Amino acid sequence: MKQSKFIFVTGGVCSSLGKGIVAASTAAILKSAGLKVSVMKLDPYLNVDPGTMSPFQHGEVFVLDDGGETDLDLGHYERFIDVPITTLCTVTTGKVYSEVLEEEREGRYLGGTIQIVPHITGKIQQKVEKAARDLDLDVLVVEIGGTVGDIEGEPFLEVIREMRNKHGNKNVLCQHTTLLPYLAASKELKTKPTQLSVKELRRSGIHPDIMFCRADVEIPEKLLEKVGFFCDVPTEAVLPAETVKSIYEIPLKFQKYNLGNLIAERLELGDLKFDLAEWESGIESILSEKEELVIGLAGKYNELDDAYLSVIESAKFAGYKHDRAVRIEWIDTEKIEAEDPKELKKLETVAGIVVPGGFGNRGIEGKIKVAQYCRENNKPYLGLCLGSQIMALDYARNVLGITDADSEEFDDTGKSKNHVIHFIPEQRDIRRKGGTMRLGAYPCVLDKDSKSAKLYGKTEISERHRHRYEFNNSYREQFESSGFKIAGESPDGQLVEVVEVVDHPFMIGCQYHPEFLSRPFRPHPLFDGFIQASL
Ligand code: GLN
Repeated sequence: MKQSKFIFVTGGVCSSLGKGIVAASTAAILKSAGLKVSVMKLDPYLNVDPGTMSPFQHGEVFVLDDGGETDLDLGHYERFIDVPITTLCTVTTGKVYSEVLEEEREGRYLGGTIQIVPHITGKIQQKVEKAARDLDLDVLVVEIGGTVGDIEGEPFLEVIREMRNKHGNKNVLCQHTTLLPYLAASKELKTKPTQLSVKELRRSGIHPDIMFCRADVEIPEKLLEKVGFFCDVPTEAVLPAETVKSIYEIPLKFQKYNLGNLIAERLELGDLKFDLAEWESGIESILSEKEELVIGLAGKYNELDDAYLSVIESAKFAGYKHDRAVRIEWIDTEKIEAEDPKELKKLETVAGIVVPGGFGNRGIEGKIKVAQYCRENNKPYLGLCLGSQIMALDYARNVLGITDADSEEFDDTGKSKNHVIHFIPEQRDIRRKGGTMRLGAYPCVLDKDSKSAKLYGKTEISERHRHRYEFNNSYREQFESSGFKIAGESPDGQLVEVVEVVDHPFMIGCQYHPEFLSRPFRPHPLFDGFIQASL
């Protein structure tokens, strides 16, 4: 069996340093040398998975092919390494504890005392090793959530120590990401918090091999030497990680400092050739000066970029392809509902509108108005999951004259006689893990004469889902005979997957989430078409 190498990424000083980007960039560099890599996230919080966590606190739920509902960092990983990540690569303290406690109830510990060390740490270790083994990886990069010194993070740090002990120094490496804060009064960057965070790491028996120093200004060489001296890391392994214009520059920046070579040497990976040509040409189109293109985003969590991270990134990627810098204009659909003139004006000024996924009643009537506006005014509209259901509701109410058309999800009082969007109970049995949600990748067949098929350039696709409700097939004929095309469906023809307003430059809705499959240098066909139409 092959011995995988493990690279752990820790963070010190404070959160939000971009450890996820450090982990993803590291993996991207190693992948460019032909290594089989993946990235894993160990999250210290007690939630079992991020599926039910509030977007206010936690940003978007990123959905994997296998239906895993994960942290948005996994989205960064996939966008950077362009390899599908699996549920094996996402672990939370909550998941670990629940498994250990379940085993205890089953009597599998034979009455022994169960402790954080070795049982909890052992379980974490098993999960890390299993991911590397099952995915047959050369290198697994493991990001540890939180900041060194957090109480809940301690077992994860202990795992690094235990794994180094077990697998040996040449198979386990630690990358530590810290901040050098800038003091405006003395006009200098300070290294003390970084030194202290390394001290804290050492307390857990870990010594960093490579350090990434985040700063908002250029870091003088002398300071990197100082960090190296105090933290006992060779200067060449103290990498500046200055704030950049685009996160997609980072693999190139890090490789400029020989990150791949440092790792290869330390982990005895042999003579690797790193080829980042794709990144070099891709980043050029991202960084070049461009005209702005304003796209409206009519979601629920306004101004909260993280709650729609993949959607926003997808719009930007498509923008780059068309040499435009996409700027997001947030459209508050509760204000649209209240006919706020300033908000209504935005519908006119933006070039196109995305109605993203979402759950619950809030702002729904406003969203339907947005769809109506786009339909009546030939404004490009892209409906993602909920946005696609909204598109059907507008059509039902305002074109087909089914004035009480609603989704079963929003009609709490049962007033509507027309659930154009409804829950299909038979679906419950076919859905993974007995849940009611349709999660993960499912195949979809596109009508060869649809706009979507032209955009995709094929008729058989696979896309990721996260929804409960579906288009109600008993309304199909009525819709189809009046210019609302069912452009894509599940292979058995039972579930509507893509809808299009025929007589419109671009009004497309999909029951899935294309935003999870967009890549920086390869925008998703639907976003590509949407941006093109918006231009
Ligand atoms: N709330 C809708 C459903 O459950 C849409 C979900 C979504 O947009 N992800 O079907």
